[in-house]
Amino acid sequence: MNRVRCLVLNAALGPLDYKVPDGMSVEPGQVVECPLGPRAVIGIVWEAERLPGAEVPAEKLRPLRGLLPIPPLPAPLRRLIEWTADYYCAPLASVARMALSSGGALKGPATTIEYRLTGGLPERMTPQRQAALEALEGEQATIRELAGIGGVSEGVLRGLVNQGCLEPVEVDCDRPYHLARPDFAQVDLSDHQQAAAATLGAAVKAGKFAPFLLDGVTGSGKTETYFEPIAEALRMDRQVLVLLPEIALTEAFLSRFEERFGAKPVLWHSSLKSTERRRAWRAIANGTAQVVVGARSALFLPYAALGLIVVDEAHEVSFKQDDGVRYNARDVAVMRGAFEEIPVVLASATPALESLAMVESGTYAKLDLPSRFGGAAMPTIRTVNLTEHVPGRGSWLAPPLVEALEERLARGEQSLLFLNRRGYAPLTLCRNCGFRFQCPNCSAWLVEHRFSRRLACHHCGHETPPPDTCPECGEPDCLVACGPGVERIADEVAERLPDARVFVATSDTLNSPGRAAEFVTLVENGGVDVIVGTQLVTKGFHFPDLTLVGVVDADLGLEGGDLRAAERTYQQVAQVAGRAGRGSKPGEVLIQTRHPDAPVIAALAAGDRDAFYEAETEARRMAGAPPFGRWAAIIVSSEEESEARDAARRIGDARPRHDDMAIYGPAPAPLSLLRGRYRYRLLINAKRSARLQDTIREWLGALDHPAGVRVGVDIDPYSF
Ligand code: ADP
Ligand code: ZN
Repeated sequence: MNRVRCLVLNAALGPLDYKVPDGMSVEPGQVVECPLGPRAVIGIVWEAERLPGAEVPAEKLRPLRGLLPIPPLPAPLRRLIEWTADYYCAPLASVARMALSSGGALKGPATTIEYRLTGGLPERMTPQRQAALEALEGEQATIRELAGIGGVSEGVLRGLVNQGCLEPVEVDCDRPYHLARPDFAQVDLSDHQQAAAATLGAAVKAGKFAPFLLDGVTGSGKTETYFEPIAEALRMDRQVLVLLPEIALTEAFLSRFEERFGAKPVLWHSSLKSTERRRAWRAIANGTAQVVVGARSALFLPYAALGLIVVDEAHEVSFKQDDGVRYNARDVAVMRGAFEEIPVVLASATPALESLAMVESGTYAKLDLPSRFGGAAMPTIRTVNLTEHVPGRGSWLAPPLVEALEERLARGEQSLLFLNRRGYAPLTLCRNCGFRFQCPNCSAWLVEHRFSRRLACHHCGHETPPPDTCPECGEPDCLVACGPGVERIADEVAERLPDARVFVATSDTLNSPGRAAEFVTLVENGGVDVIVGTQLVTKGFHFPDLTLVGVVDADLGLEGGDLRAAERTYQQVAQVAGRAGRGSKPGEVLIQTRHPDAPVIAALAAGDRDAFYEAETEARRMAGAPPFGRWAAIIVSSEEESEARDAARRIGDARPRHDDMAIYGPAPAPLSLLRGRYRYRLLINAKRSARLQDTIREWLGALDHPAGVRVGVDIDPYSF
């Protein structure tokens, strides 16, 4: 029977049946062109044999148009796609699309055309042409990408092509990557590293599913430890995937990798140029990309021969995707390991409670690195009670912290001040009439960015220059900044320590691998005395002369009643504390707080991780939260407020009644307006044994909504 069932990528239709034309032979996983209405769309052959419920009679089937010249998606990946769609209640096609997210990789020859400057000038210079020529110096990319880089239209660039100022370059997408060599430069491991590395190496050799939690304090050398199983996989000619939370900051990782293996790994993240993306995708699919370092989306790529997955900083929130397919890459990584039958390593100094529970239940094996590499001591930690040591007006640094900064400056050591707030001030208001600057698209204040002179929404990217007068009452000089962001803290440092060289490190300033690398070099060469940074600087960096970490406001993350707030605060503060005293000089951490007795803060100050986890475990048990129970959210949104509210009510009215599930809401979501869409939310708290996903599917599947309404499901949500 030459009938196949295909997953059509750009349709929410579910799998469709097609006829295989005579002379064409297909197998499951193959990427094909499927007729759909008047068009042809990309599909994946999902089943080629047993087709239960084949309703369309054979003579009515339309024939496949053709096969795309790429390897079929391997069976373990197809199973992962099915599992992900099922577990996260997402459309199969949306998940499958992530596997093929290579755009141009699918079709045509293995070359693309990029453009670069020739050095020639146009006959007629215009301001736009001038701007483009300046901005594109040293760049080479497709016309569309160059338009983005240069901030001009594609039309302007085509004009420059015609004038001979830009020339085409043919780029071969199959040009090989440099080969990594497993034994290029081996390092001597500490005994603990050695033991963990041997276990992991043996697991790679065994080629069986085996999940590990590599639980090592900050500075214990987790990276060098998991380099060894990577070497083992390379020796076996198997591919390795390393997931990192902050791909913009990979430069330090990449050079360490290069030192060890003699070549850089292949990168995968959302801001790759299309040509690089295409090249990486093809090399991953044909097996020539040996080690891939990627953001969470790298998890769904069609590796030809995967042998190991490492998730570094596995507790990180950024592994959770919060729109489209809402999945947690840490959990999906373990599932991929199960389907591929390979080991998976979750590395962290502050593992998620869920991961520790998996160790407890015997599902994951735990490998410990209990001390810092090279004998560096853990930093001493103390709290600064802000109700006793009150910073002055318009000041956020209490006297003990200022003194500590001064001491470091005098000794020529470096300090890091941590505040998880970009910009200068989170709120701007009018002293005269009380007007507050709010985003027109989101229920959020506009954040003042003083260095770049703009008010910006951190949710949708809306921006406006700060006006001189209040837009409401017209009064001049009446706008005041409320609260601190990192820029304001940097100003305060500059004022109190006029000799200090201050660097603000956020995603605004370290927005490319190049700038991140410059920052690292600058700090390493002693060009900075005080770093003021957001969570971006809490992980990965190793600065031996950095001996003081100040947490400006440890209470910030605890506001808002989020179930994971305590855990996130613990992780952030412990991680940033881990930047102090990594070299030969001892480190000190000062935590500014108004609640020194809160269990999280007390545990941090005592350096008692177990105490924190015990308290947190108890709180979760009481709340029926993971790992004891499960949460899910249903998010209903529309551009029309009433439409969203009505749809959410209809869903609420149709709620199923089960003893093992409690359903709350609908209520406005915490961000009740986001990117122009009004959002309502229902929360479900279920016992572990409940049929959570099936219930949600049956419940939502029975309801229809107006076309403008979107209903999303968030299984195991992170923030609510
Ligand atoms: P972690 O990720 O556990 O916080 P890192 O992997 O960043 O720790 O290691 C801390 C520092 O110790 C790094 O500079 C690293 O290069 C160094 N290091 C770790 N293990 C070794 C080793 N076996 N030999 C030499 N240097 C090491
Ligand atoms: Zn906004």
